[in-house]
Amino acid sequence: MEVNLISDTVTKPSKGMLEAMFSAVVGDDVFKEDPSVNALEEEVASLFGKEAALFFPSGTMTNQTAIKIHTQPGQQLICDNYSHIFHYEGGGVSFNSGVSCRLLQGNRGRISAELIGEAINTPDFYHSPKTALVSLENTTNMGGGAVYDFVEIKKIKALCDQHQLALHLDGARLWNALEVTSESPTDYGTLFDTISLCFSKGLGCPVGSVLVGSKEAIEEALRIRKVFGGGMRQAGYLAAAATYALHHHRADLKEDHNKAKALSDALEASTIVQSVAPVETNIVIFSLNPDQNESEFIYKMKQKGILFISLGKGKLRMVTHRDYTDAQHDYVLTTLTQLN
Ligand SMILES: *Cc1c(COP(=O)(O)O)cnc(C)c1O
Repeated sequence: MEVNLISDTVTKPSKGMLEAMFSAVVGDDVFKEDPSVNALEEEVASLFGKEAALFFPSGTMTNQTAIKIHTQPGQQLICDNYSHIFHYEGGGVSFNSGVSCRLLQGNRGRISAELIGEAINTPDFYHSPKTALVSLENTTNMGGGAVYDFVEIKKIKALCDQHQLALHLDGARLWNALEVTSESPTDYGTLFDTISLCFSKGLGCPVGSVLVGSKEAIEEALRIRKVFGGGMRQAGYLAAAATYALHHHRADLKEDHNKAKALSDALEASTIVQSVAPVETNIVIFSLNPDQNESEFIYKMKQKGILFISLGKGKLRMVTHRDYTDAQHDYVLTTLTQLN
């Protein structure tokens, strides 16, 4: 049996999703004439209570576009030192926007209003870069799927208003956060100027991200997406997958979370595991006892057909997803129990 727990991006479209893609009505989206893309954008905008939305080929491009529309070259954004926008977007913050990152040491990828308050540069002190944007990530990727406390986000929003800073959410994994908290998408739409959302993670689409924001922000985003080379033609085949996922796959995230909890319990029980980070959604981060050889362990598990990765610095990661079946789950749990 082969079990891939490397990422929740390894999924293939479900049968229903493929059928929705095959039967999509499409047009040229560069002319904004693809009915399936337009319908997805309208649906996602209204779900978040925003005026407009734009479909993108990747979460990276969605974030980079948002950063570009909220900043000017030479300015600074504030984010956690675990941020995807800092670590995993190829240095795009400086390449695309000429902006620097003020990195904060948050808690598993989450930063507080207090920390942000201390990091905002005084606007009239012209020796420092002007702070223009705060970017949060929910759930956090490197932070192991940790979820923000909504009360803290409200404080951050108040601070941003006070200092006239834009507030962006890297919500590539927001669907997971929405599954485990009581807030609605509109609650998030109210607080953030822009939100990026991925459909190729937990929701199981082959491709696709959406940026939501005001009409003005999205008009600007359309221009930036063009500059980045992200205009797609008959993208409705992909948008149809995203719409299908919204309607049929969202509820299944609960199952990914349950399975991640069970993996965490099994790892906790193992004598070779030193610690497991708290599991809030579908990401399990753990470390081995110091007497264990990490690469040997990864290799040994690979021989048994169980794939996962090291994040470096002694952190191992397993991610559950919709193609991780019950049978695979039973097999992994049994294997973990026999590790000792
Ligand atoms: C996956 C992810 C992204 C976007 O990644 P792409 O591979 O470009 O789609 C952005 N932010 C976070 C937190 C992610 O997990």
